[in-house]
Amino acid sequence: MLATVHDHPHADTDSIIGLVRQDLGEVSRQAVYDVLRALTTAGLVRRFQPSGSVARYEARIGDNHHHLVCRSCGVIVDVECAVGHAPCVTAPDETGYEIDEAEVIYWGRCSGCSSGSQTSTGSPPTGRA
Ligand SMILES: [Zn+2]
Ligand SMILES: [Zn+2]
Repeated sequence: MLATVHDHPHADTDSIIGLVRQDLGEVSRQAVYDVLRALTTAGLVRRFQPSGSVARYEARIGDNHHHLVCRSCGVIVDVECAVGHAPCVTAPDETGYEIDEAEVIYWGRCSGCSSGSQTSTGSPPTGRA
């Protein structure tokens, strides 16, 4: 299962279940959930959840990288830590927290979606006639 997550970064639970079943045959959803939770707890898999999306899993951990999410097609790509080493977002000292990780999600439109809209002369998405 760790290999599955490693080979398919940012897969959601349903995708992982489908991939695991290709390899191992019939596996219950609960079994997959349990293993994913165990891997996440053990720090072998990172779980993140863009707002409005389902949870995603990836095996690229410990480098404090961030994610770019396309609002149009939902594609997710990795981006390097914005500033130097982790943590790259420093909260004010008075919180008293020792911060060791920052989770940042950038939202926008991927190059495919933004260029596609420029050349499109089709009907507007609102469907107004
Ligand atoms: Zn897109
Ligand atoms: Zn990632």
